[in-house]
Amino acid sequence: VVVGAGFGGLEVARRLQRIDVDVTLIDQRNHHTFQPLLYQVATAGLDTDDICHSTRGILRKHPNARSVQATVVDVDFDGQLVRTLDGGSISYDTLVLALGAVTADFGVPGVAEHAFGLKSGAEALHIRNHVLRNFERAARSRDQAEQQAATTVVIVGGGPTGVEMAGGFAELFDKVLRRDFPELASTPPRVVLVEGQDRLLASFSPRLAATAEVRLGQMGVVVQTSTQVAAVNAASVELNSGEVIAASTVVWAAGVKAHPLAEAWGLETSRAGRVVVDAQLRVPGRSNVFVIGDLAAAHTSNGDLIPQVAPGAIQAGAYVAGLIAGTADSNAQFHYQDKGSMATIGRNAAVVELPSGRTVTGFAGWVAWLALHLVMLVGFRNRANVMVNWAWNYLTWDRGSRVIIDLDEDGAQNTNRVSD
Ligand SMILES: Cc1cc2nc3c(=O)[nH]c(=O)nc-3n(C[C@H](O)[C@H](O)[C@H](O)COP(=O)(O)OP(=O)(O)OC[C@H]3O[C@@H](n4cnc5c(N)ncnc54)[C@H](O)[C@@H]3O)c2cc1C
Repeated sequence: VVVGAGFGGLEVARRLQRIDVDVTLIDQRNHHTFQPLLYQVATAGLDTDDICHSTRGILRKHPNARSVQATVVDVDFDGQLVRTLDGGSISYDTLVLALGAVTADFGVPGVAEHAFGLKSGAEALHIRNHVLRNFERAARSRDQAEQQAATTVVIVGGGPTGVEMAGGFAELFDKVLRRDFPELASTPPRVVLVEGQDRLLASFSPRLAATAEVRLGQMGVVVQTSTQVAAVNAASVELNSGEVIAASTVVWAAGVKAHPLAEAWGLETSRAGRVVVDAQLRVPGRSNVFVIGDLAAAHTSNGDLIPQVAPGAIQAGAYVAGLIAGTADSNAQFHYQDKGSMATIGRNAAVVELPSGRTVTGFAGWVAWLALHLVMLVGFRNRANVMVNWAWNYLTWDRGSRVIIDLDEDGAQNTNRVSD
């Protein structure tokens, strides 16, 4: 039984396709989400369907696998049972926990109520709806302060997600919405990126971080480093400097913590709630329970925690599948291979850092970013859709996906923060 159809869980199921084992892949959603492109859904570059793929569709050609849509609430490790929210239970011989991570608010008041996280297609869609609704509201207003607040987006967290998001919004505002909303000509929309450390992209070299900051500045993004958020309110953000930014949209990209269920189940956890595992990614004392991906506190050969990135989850999934299938040396330890880091900063610009220390920036980096994301996307249809959308956006300076989809049946406005 594999819990979680993200990068890690899906890799386990796929690798066991031709092996004589029965695989049950459980996820709370009926689809896999390609999280690296969620920000493009939020900024109207892509649709959720382009980056999500039905789990049943993925497993259709796996005769030994079945997909179950259910929310796992408990695990009886002694009885070898996974319990689900609907009261059901599924028994296992071997369990792989790949529940991923959730947004961490670090105790900052108002984040849970007023800021958007970005972990699911639904959250990305809510951000897009919310921003577009606010532009419509601003266009009807005659109060310039209200217009400014309605068309200001504050992104908290200057890691790759925050940087990509800031670039995405800057392009959407400057190239698309400025033309769509002539009523707002005298109130240019604002994108503010707030980072607590003294520079953006802490996991990249200072030179690349500086490149990203300069580029964002050229795109009109206001970057505020060494700045902590003290509180998030319904229509403003309070900074520790005392400054208050009036903004109707706050996106919280400041960090994640491991899924809290594992801790609730009594599994030993380390930093940010990640489950302590041995060198074979097993829960100590439970040889038939593996934990992989963002949920696991696995270490590199240098003793560092493996970063919470897609390659870490995919490599762990492949490794665990090898142990389960018996195709890998049963004594082999998990070795994480660093594949480098990349972040795009809008059209024709990206920063790429390879494990060798080599860096690529500008157009070449951007093309590398596009190619890698296309290759990693699940499903040919999704790849084709994304490619067409990107080509369209690039050639026309347009964004096709800027429609407001009301998810509430009565069409009522959604609250800022939506959890699905
Ligand atoms: C906005 C964003 C951008 C990112 N960009 C990049 C990037 O550019 N490059 C990169 O390498 N990494 C990126 N990451 C990180 C990467 O997506 C994660 O490291 C990766 O998804 C971890 O894989 P996983 O399998 O551990 O968890 P996930 O992929 O998160 O999968 C966890 C799965 O568990 C399911 N689940 C959760 N709770 C339950 C439950 N109770 N019951 C049943 N199912 C449940 C979820 O629905 C989900 O499908 C990004 C992450 C985010 C959020």
